[in-house]
Amino acid sequence: MAEKKTATKAAPKKPAAPKAEPKAKEVKLDPKPVVKEQPKVEAKKAAPAPKKPAAPKAAPKVEVKKEQPKVEVKVEQPKVEEKPIIKEEPKVEVKKEAPAPAPKKSGKMKVLFVAGEANPFIKTGGLADVAGALPKALVEKGIDARVMIPLYLGIPQEMKNNMQYIGNCFVQLSWRSQYCGVFSYVYQGVTYYFIDNEFYFKRHGIYGHYDDGERFAFFSKAILESLKIIDFTPDIIHANDWHTALVPVFLDCFYRGEEHCKNAKTVYTIHNIEFQGQYGDGLIEDILGFNYDQSLLVRYAGCVNYMKGGIESASRVTTVSPSYANEILDPYYGYGMQDILNARKFKLSGIINGIDEEKNNPATDKSLFKNYDINTIENKKFNKIGLQQLLGLPVNEDVPMIGMVGRLTHQKGIDLVTAVMDRILDLDVQVVILGTGDWKYENILKDMQNRYPGKLRAIINFSSDMASKIYAASDMFLMPSKFEPCGLSQMIAMRYASVPIVRLTGGLKDTVIAYNHETGEGEGFTFLTYNASDMLYAIERAVGLYRDYKSDWEKVVLNGMKKDFSWKTIANQYIDLYKSI
Ligand code: ADP
Repeated sequence: MAEKKTATKAAPKKPAAPKAEPKAKEVKLDPKPVVKEQPKVEAKKAAPAPKKPAAPKAAPKVEVKKEQPKVEVKVEQPKVEEKPIIKEEPKVEVKKEAPAPAPKKSGKMKVLFVAGEANPFIKTGGLADVAGALPKALVEKGIDARVMIPLYLGIPQEMKNNMQYIGNCFVQLSWRSQYCGVFSYVYQGVTYYFIDNEFYFKRHGIYGHYDDGERFAFFSKAILESLKIIDFTPDIIHANDWHTALVPVFLDCFYRGEEHCKNAKTVYTIHNIEFQGQYGDGLIEDILGFNYDQSLLVRYAGCVNYMKGGIESASRVTTVSPSYANEILDPYYGYGMQDILNARKFKLSGIINGIDEEKNNPATDKSLFKNYDINTIENKKFNKIGLQQLLGLPVNEDVPMIGMVGRLTHQKGIDLVTAVMDRILDLDVQVVILGTGDWKYENILKDMQNRYPGKLRAIINFSSDMASKIYAASDMFLMPSKFEPCGLSQMIAMRYASVPIVRLTGGLKDTVIAYNHETGEGEGFTFLTYNASDMLYAIERAVGLYRDYKSDWEKVVLNGMKKDFSWKTIANQYIDLYKSI
């Protein structure tokens, strides 16, 4: 999770004069199938030879899939073996772009959702939750939605054993020709594709490597290249975050002449604008293979910026809540991207994320000490007792328990929490925090735990099992984020009857309404300014209501549990968006 941060962190300051940047709208891309740039011989010599990717044989063992359902893909995988497509770079496949015939709109709409991670295969944060839930909701609504992610080392071997090998091809990254295997796996009715290249993905950790710029440029191009193999012609390619931001760029620059994607429209979703995929401009020739005009799409503020390319090239840009869509137009939240976004405001919108209500269900969650739902809410207390015993906290079902689950980074407001931790604990509460992230926060929290052994537990780990236990055991869920594109944890907390205490920013503002004594409406406690005293006051109000106004407290809890955060509802907004392009 912390890794998510490393290689891509954007400078928080406004970048130097964007005017130095040639305006992207002036960029004219050759609409024809591009003459893949023939790298200069001299340049090649200078470049370090890449490690040869593992040959097809290195692919995970594949035991012929039994279920492999509706992948109208080559189940018998014949062609593949016969023609490992080795692209011969110099040949310009002059597919004259004849005026495209009207796209066939018959049958189901086809959506390819591409991301750096997807639940349940691999996860560092909310992006994986979305990639694991939105396509499922789309499929349930009759869309042929499929997902593509890299075949990481960290994907459980058991899943790998059940993947089906579809075929392989080679991907050109400037002068490199890189092996790309494609596997598929059907999970809950959704076909997932996995891009295999052991040089790039057989490593520990999924982000944070020195060559992330190259790894995800490869993945983005492999997505488009592999469409030929999987024989899927998407109407929409939905890219996410910096990891796949180059997909719409490569599509426009190199693949518009290809049968499988010439009519594809693109959606690019920003899940967190802090991480933009910024690299030195040496990548342009050496990896991306762009000519000067094409390079203008990704050049920004003196470097290469993948996210900027995604914003420029995609048919539509979305972010994961309406409030965040507004906020990122401002320098405080925009991390330098605000000028680009303001110029492209006409195609920007915000759609709030949902949560997987099947997976995040206190009635069925196997991690809980005792399951419960809105009608058996009295059973929730057994989870508090169970967690207190497990963590060695004093067992007392009446003491208010405040939970936190999330990345330990400045984004999540850990500074506010640590600044007033002594005063929070003075309220006679128990605090349980689960997270990994910046060592600074990890160490401060461990130190505080040592000072308050009977009141505070800081579990420095990534554990979905423990996360569930905390959602279920806690009475309140603290999320004082400095910025929050959407936030899923507060929604999960409400579903588990834990009352959110949040700062009114981004998706937190869109999902948590402050409890109103007069009307009985609302399901949480909120504060506006990024300020520890304001946060403390919100916590005091919550604890006060919990202790002294039990019936009001129950109302707040039930209001939260009744809220609809299902993807079923939200998926319709994406369908409308796809149809509008
Ligand atoms: P972000 O995407 O910014 O990390 P979100 O709130 O959108 O934050 O999503 C976080 C998701 O990751 C939630 O499902 C949350 O439960 C989960 N999560 C975060 N940290 C941990 C952790 N240490 N262990 C287990 N799950 C975690």
